[in-house]
Amino acid sequence: MASHLRTCQYTPDEVKRNFTAEQQEERFSENKHRRISGPQHTSISGFASPSSTTDITADQINQLIDLALEAQKKSYAPYSNFKVGAALLTDTNNFYKGCNIENASLGAGICAERAAFSRALTDGETGFTAIAIATDSRSFTFPCGICRQFMAEWGTDLDVYVVKRDRSTQVLSLEELLPHQFSPKELKPSKR
Ligand SMILES: [Zn+2]
Repeated sequence: MASHLRTCQYTPDEVKRNFTAEQQEERFSENKHRRISGPQHTSISGFASPSSTTDITADQINQLIDLALEAQKKSYAPYSNFKVGAALLTDTNNFYKGCNIENASLGAGICAERAAFSRALTDGETGFTAIAIATDSRSFTFPCGICRQFMAEWGTDLDVYVVKRDRSTQVLSLEELLPHQFSPKELKPSKR
């Protein structure tokens, strides 16, 4: 199966530079799904999923990465020592942080992604644009299966950015991460 994985070979500092449309064209010429949203801000929504209708700006991605790294510092992971931070952007342009929180009763822990979603949902947010997830892993680490299913409850048109310690990122849509997902519509009885 062809992979749609896209690597952002830049740091947030690079993102903060104002690439011109031509520079973007050159830099991301192989990406057929780029959407440049306007000259007023630098859009790197070329990294957004082809299945996404989100139009996230470079500033918002930078904020997501910063907040995910910030949240990672609050991780409580004394058992695995696998510290994770997440930052979620809602369609109302609010940001929510979360970190993984382990527990002596190991199954009682929660992942950073679900922690961030829980905070946002508690505030009444129900539409989500993107989430960034920061780990110390050498490889790009995408959400676990439980989190993919959890997040899919609110739609799979969500850009999932994974961030390494060196601040490099990769992005996939939740649709790509969880195809053929089980969703609320499955629970509706079929019409006969
Ligand atoms: Zn998880």
